[in-house]
Amino acid sequence: MKELLCPDAALRLIFDHAPALGAETVPLAQAVDRVLAAEVRARDALPPFDNSAMDGFALRAADIKDASPDHPVELTVRETIRAGETGRIEVKTGEAVRIMTGAPLPRGADSVVMVEMTEPGSRGAVRMAKATRSGSHVRVRGEDVQEGSLLLDRGALLCPYDVALLAAQGITEVSVIRRPRVAVLATGDELVDYRDEPAAGRIRNSNGPALQAALSRWGVPVENLGIAPDKPDALRAVLSSALAQADVLVVSGGVSVGDFDCTKSVFAELGVREVFWKVAIKPGKPLLFGVYEAPGARPKLAFGLPGNPIAALVCLEEFVRPALESLQGYAPKHPSYHLTGTALNDYPKPEDRRQYLFCRAEPASGGYELTILRPQGSAMLGMASRANALAVAPSGVSRIVRGDALKFRWLK
Ligand code: AMP
Ligand code: MG
Repeated sequence: MKELLCPDAALRLIFDHAPALGAETVPLAQAVDRVLAAEVRARDALPPFDNSAMDGFALRAADIKDASPDHPVELTVRETIRAGETGRIEVKTGEAVRIMTGAPLPRGADSVVMVEMTEPGSRGAVRMAKATRSGSHVRVRGEDVQEGSLLLDRGALLCPYDVALLAAQGITEVSVIRRPRVAVLATGDELVDYRDEPAAGRIRNSNGPALQAALSRWGVPVENLGIAPDKPDALRAVLSSALAQADVLVVSGGVSVGDFDCTKSVFAELGVREVFWKVAIKPGKPLLFGVYEAPGARPKLAFGLPGNPIAALVCLEEFVRPALESLQGYAPKHPSYHLTGTALNDYPKPEDRRQYLFCRAEPASGGYELTILRPQGSAMLGMASRANALAVAPSGVSRIVRGDALKFRWLK
């Protein structure tokens, strides 16, 4: 019997074959979750000019250095500066200017006192009952970003905060690692399109829509190639044109040991070199991974997922998603099991395999409690849909026992 590969080793082999793709230029509005292919430097200082951090009064701190509740100081209010305007006058001793958040600090002033800290004085003046520090509530030009400084390095994964920074600099497009193109194909003589009525013995293709849904959620362009029968000639035709187009091929079904399973042999005929087949996981054991190296082209990744719908999706999330992240130029963030919960029930598992367990997770005092749904099954769509969490039980353990701590992630 073929030795099962441990899942961590399988992931390492995948990463060995998934270096970052090339670069493309995209508008800033499409740059979130992308990786910079080149560093970006600051065109402008941020803030671009000294401005008020508060709604209040701009003044000279020295004028109110002796102000106290017993001896308030009154300043003449000369004008109001709204955000977007610039002040007309220079603030002189004994004067203040009403100023709104974001408005440029007027000449002569060195600080701002919040409106809440002031009271109206006599004849339109403002009364201050407390001293302030020079520079208070002033956002100084360049205090955040200096002109010419490094804003974001090559390899940075852009989040909305980065988009804000780039937008504030007037940067309208960026060079980023391109997204992989993924082609999805379901194989199986029994399959009909999910919009069609299955004849006796046949079932609807649920993997196609499910895999496409997950990939679109991850922002990856997907081409859904529909259904191919378990006929080597037909499969070869679809897969050879897919290999020419896509960076990553995701085929479900036909990777087990059934008489008509032909994905594996067709991959081989087309020149896909098998990197591994069969991983020590449940569900998902028959997972196949190979690489297609056409002369002069960059290598393509080919995944053969088990046909069983739950196994196919688990493999996509656990193995294909990290590959896609690596191709996009960043250290994979998935799969990630940051949360820990306490099992509320026992569940037997194969000792030599890692098992992914569909659970109902509920918050409980200081943590989470996990009810492992029973029975688990790689074709049990209703069961998986009822779950809200996926827990992972390590190999080397033959039974999860009530009270065990399990790592899990949310499914919903
Ligand atoms: P296979 O991996 O081809 O042996 O398929 C294993 C099981 O998954 C069989 O019961 C198939 O009918 C089922 N299956 C395969 N492909 C799909 C699909 N695209 N949608 C739903 N079920 C499938
Ligand atoms: Mg099949």
